[in-house]
Amino acid sequence: MGQNGKSVILIVDDSMLNIMMLTRILSADYVLLTATSGEAALSLALKQIPDLILLDVIMPGMDGFEVLTELKRNPETMNIPVIFITGADNEEDEERGFLLGAVDYITKPFKNVIVKVRVNTHMKIVSQLRMNERLGMIDPLTGIHNRRSFDHSFEAEWGRAVREKTPISFLMLDIDHFKKYNDAFGHLQGDELLKAAAAIFVAVVKRPTDLAARLGGEEFGILLPGAGPQGALAVAEEVRKAVEALQVPTIDGKQQTTATVSIGVASISPVHSDSPTELLSRADDCLYAAKESGRNKVIGGELK
Ligand SMILES: [Mg+2]
Repeated sequence: MGQNGKSVILIVDDSMLNIMMLTRILSADYVLLTATSGEAALSLALKQIPDLILLDVIMPGMDGFEVLTELKRNPETMNIPVIFITGADNEEDEERGFLLGAVDYITKPFKNVIVKVRVNTHMKIVSQLRMNERLGMIDPLTGIHNRRSFDHSFEAEWGRAVREKTPISFLMLDIDHFKKYNDAFGHLQGDELLKAAAAIFVAVVKRPTDLAARLGGEEFGILLPGAGPQGALAVAEEVRKAVEALQVPTIDGKQQTTATVSIGVASISPVHSDSPTELLSRADDCLYAAKESGRNKVIGGELK
């Protein structure tokens, strides 16, 4: 989404004239980004993640097919719908575009109504998918990201860390003695504790790419792209202290309850051959060690 809640379209065409014509047709309803080469389109798409891409097939340098192939290869851009711009009556190009994953095509010379209708149709599909995705990615109890959402972001952020040679850290968190808490105060009160803890996790993650998720039961994860071991340990310690200080009133409001959290921390600056699951299992091992050594603890382990 761009300014004023308008959807963002990236127009890619080596002809400025074509870009101008499409701009005239679409600028009232959408925020438009433009690129005149495949290479520029790819870097812009990664930076801005547009809602839709209009992609010319024939361009010097990278052509539209190559650009589409690259977009589909990257988890961050693979779901952006692409509409091909083809010459009139070029069925071969249209067919090849569909095979590579384009959602539609428009032909030159542009007809205002057809361009508008095709673009609007796919934009509607996009917002429907987004809505479904959002609904399927939120944990209903705590209102934070769920496991599925975590997996989705982790895959994309891991890929980015490898590409940009930056560190990535993961915190695995588990509420201490949650079963005992439930036994003492009841499941509804247990839910209150989970909600209060989740609110702390969300409050602690500060950068837009950081992510706090409920992974299941009383188990949570915090993903910190760009953070090395020192930064991750500092965040973990902040979380541990905040939970320790937390007072959750009982549902009848008559008393305050407290809880603690154990946290395993793992960091890595991944290269291609590294396995993302190794980061998760390292954090899990550290969490186990934190539990074994008395709980209410942060234990960290750097992979390299
Ligand atoms: Mg062209």
